[in-house]
Amino acid sequence: MIFVLKPNVTQVEIDHICEKIQSFGLTPHISRGVERTIIGAIGDETILRSQPLEVLPGVERVLPVLKPYKLASREFKPEATVLSVRDVKVGGQKLAIIAGPCAVENRKQLLETAQMVKQAGASLLRGGAFKPRTSPYAFQGLGEEGLRYLAEAREITGLPVVTELMDPRESDMVMTYADVIQIGARNMQNFRLLKEVGSHDKPVLLKRGMSSTVKELLMSAEYIMSEGNYKVILCERGIRTFEDSTRNTLDLTAVPVVKQLSHLPVIVDPSHGTGKWDLVAPMAMAAIAAGADGLMIEVHPNPEEALSDGAQSLLPEKFARLMSSLRFVAEAVGRTV
Ligand code: PEP
Ligand code: MN
Repeated sequence: MIFVLKPNVTQVEIDHICEKIQSFGLTPHISRGVERTIIGAIGDETILRSQPLEVLPGVERVLPVLKPYKLASREFKPEATVLSVRDVKVGGQKLAIIAGPCAVENRKQLLETAQMVKQAGASLLRGGAFKPRTSPYAFQGLGEEGLRYLAEAREITGLPVVTELMDPRESDMVMTYADVIQIGARNMQNFRLLKEVGSHDKPVLLKRGMSSTVKELLMSAEYIMSEGNYKVILCERGIRTFEDSTRNTLDLTAVPVVKQLSHLPVIVDPSHGTGKWDLVAPMAMAAIAAGADGLMIEVHPNPEEALSDGAQSLLPEKFARLMSSLRFVAEAVGRTV
């Protein structure tokens, strides 16, 4: 249930409405928009249906949220969410470009890549220290050593760091180093992990599961938000289909679809979406044209020798060229790089 408040509502009235919501066993979530404050009453709302809620002082209208995801929905918050990651905005007019290697392999590889993507205009650095690999024998990531290199790269370049958390037991460790916690496609419905990141205040980059619908993606965002963390960035990274000429099928329709349904920022990962470096640039440009708020792109100084995802990684100079081309597409849709 959504409580749309009057423009001149007072804090005392807001507190009273929240207490009322709690007295029915629901949790109030406040969203302060530019024009209006909205309170979402989250929980089993059947009890609210018989209550005369519109008589509460400060309340203008009470509306049911028809979607199963509430806090993530546009109904709850009509304006687009703009998140701050240190001094970088995600969801605003300027695109958020996240670039870096699939995995942190060693200090030199990471620092070199970080400096090159920074120079090319990236706004955030990515790199996995805990890697979800299909084979248990494949490189699993450097763990905390990798996180330390990421922190050093941030010191040098000023780029905030995005890295994956796979296990709630490593949450405290990853939180101390990362600026954005990535939840990988394979863990999109790991509900314990979602609740864990929901209980912190760090921005979360939630990747769409490879066999998940948009609705399921939004329900996973709801898990995080219902714990109190509203800082969620959604990421389309390709889904499994019958098509086998690419690693995944990049579902770009998900971008405008999610934008209609949700206020959360949406970015696209054309690296995992295609699995092929030469398809990354065209799909990156298409993603921006479709309205994405940013991109996640894998870049490696020597893709042939990469310990993971070399085939989809761009050489730094190719990434720099892509950044130049993106400027034109961004401009055409009223954005900047
Ligand atoms: C990654 O970003 O390196 C990764 C493993 O992505 P995904 O979870 O989308 O497969
Ligand atoms: Mn990867």
